[in-house]
Amino acid sequence: MYQKMKGTYDLLPEQTRKYQQLEKVIRNVSKIFNYNEIRTPIFEATNLFHRGVGETTDIVSKETYTFTDRGKRSNTLRPEGTAGVVRSYIENKLYAAKIPVQKLYYVGPMFRYERPQKGRYRQFLQFGAEAFGSSSPMLDAEVISYAVSILRALKIKDVTVHVNSIGDDESKQKYREALVSYLDGKVDTLCSDCHNRFKTNPLRILDCKIDKDSDVLKNAPKPVQYLTESAKEHFDNVIKYLEAMEIDYIVDESLVRGLDYYTHTVFEVNAHLDSLGAQNTICGGGRYDNLVESLGGPKTPGVGFAFGMERLMFALESINFLGEPEYLHLYMMVLGEEQKEEGMKLLNRCRLGGLISDIDFLDKGMKPQFKLAANLKARFIAIYGEEEQKQGVINLKDQESGEQITIKKEKLYNKIITELMNPSSNCTDCAEESCDSCE
Ligand code: AMP
Repeated sequence: MYQKMKGTYDLLPEQTRKYQQLEKVIRNVSKIFNYNEIRTPIFEATNLFHRGVGETTDIVSKETYTFTDRGKRSNTLRPEGTAGVVRSYIENKLYAAKIPVQKLYYVGPMFRYERPQKGRYRQFLQFGAEAFGSSSPMLDAEVISYAVSILRALKIKDVTVHVNSIGDDESKQKYREALVSYLDGKVDTLCSDCHNRFKTNPLRILDCKIDKDSDVLKNAPKPVQYLTESAKEHFDNVIKYLEAMEIDYIVDESLVRGLDYYTHTVFEVNAHLDSLGAQNTICGGGRYDNLVESLGGPKTPGVGFAFGMERLMFALESINFLGEPEYLHLYMMVLGEEQKEEGMKLLNRCRLGGLISDIDFLDKGMKPQFKLAANLKARFIAIYGEEEQKQGVINLKDQESGEQITIKKEKLYNKIITELMNPSSNCTDCAEESCDSCE
């Protein structure tokens, strides 16, 4: 028997429904913030991620799924969404669009060859947003407020928003030097990955999952001490706008975030749930003012975030967020070969009118069909057999009230709709042409 690959999962219909509901909330909130959906390919040229995300970041140096295609090109399954969106932004010249600040969001699978555990997969779903074309701190604050609004709409309360600034290029450079001179001589006490990071990307050391609680890192200089005047002013303004929007946040001076492209504001949202354990970061984001240019576009600032959808789903399940229930409005019970044609006609009419409906395809008798209708959670069962055909009627059983009535078969759709929209209507005499409740 074949089994799914390590770090992947199937979403069976019941769980898929929950994800659809989650996406619905995401799309609604995105609309309110006027972010529009973009869909980019799942694989891109390998180089894009090396240039965009950074050669020395873990997700690029150790975790990519990379393959050479038949045309000898190196392709990589996207490990994150920003690089592809930026590529598309440049390729489609969205920077020249009539609307100068482009606000985009995406929902889709990402791939990282990580050690799988609860909340960490090799194929996982991210919902992310990217806003291009403004370096205003208002946009940083809007993006954070958008992320928080998603959580509010989902009624996920027990979260903290951590924000920090790593500053502009000059601040980052000064900070890097200070960090390197602080760590010189101490790096031996850190993990082997940190030894490499010390040479290639020292900022990443602060983000190390293994050493994050060590005294060496706790006492390390913080980016905020090296912010230039203008970087500090930017960050102060972000905070001012967050406060204006009454968003609770914590300034977390050790937050740097793992990807190379960030400048100025970085932020993360953590959910406090035992079920998530160490993987409790449900959203991460920040500003990236050099990324568009470094990928070949005009100098264009940007800011964005990404949520891990599986972790969002854990948070939702722990607060009993229910997906839309699995149900049918109508189960069409046809009893006999001769009745199938009319049964299909009636079923089709109900479906055209939007009723969620189904029928048996296995020539089952009445009893197993009742059982199937119950398993499908059908609200109404329409029974159509020889006797009903002779009289031009159909029996309609309301599974909620247990009542069964006989109506003219042409009235089936109207009767169900009336009952669904006006449950108090209690007409039992619907075979009459003049009955109001089923007209
Ligand atoms: P990142 O792109 O690393 O900033 O991640 C953004 C968010 O995606 C994280 O906060 C997680 O919620 C989620 N995430 C990252 N990696 C994984 C993974 N391997 N499995 C599931 N979710 C992930």
